[in-house]
Amino acid sequence: MLRSLSEQDGFTLLELVIIIVIILLLAAVAVPRIVDFSSSAEAAACKSNQNNIEFALTMYSASVNKSIAFFPETLDVLVPAYLDYVPNCPSGGAYEYDVNVGSIQCLEAGHGRI
Ligand SMILES: [Zn+2]
Repeated sequence: MLRSLSEQDGFTLLELVIIIVIILLLAAVAVPRIVDFSSSAEAAACKSNQNNIEFALTMYSASVNKSIAFFPETLDVLVPAYLDYVPNCPSGGAYEYDVNVGSIQCLEAGHGRI
């Protein structure tokens, strides 16, 4: 039994359309989850940065004045004695530094530590 070359190999147009639809459905499910994992990882890294900066501020304060808390005017003073560098928010958010209490707060939504 001989079949012509066009009948032997390849997919029909309907099979290709079904495969493309299945791939698009899988992508529609997977892509939002991947984006969500990425943003939650950035928020966790940002919170870790804030904790590291505040720990460095505590170390600075303890070394400068042991009786009252004393924090530097800028975070650059912490480099290199207490930090290798002043970290930035991985999402591009800005850190707000309160010199009176030595606290750091990221202004990016979802990066707060409260
Ligand atoms: Zn942040």
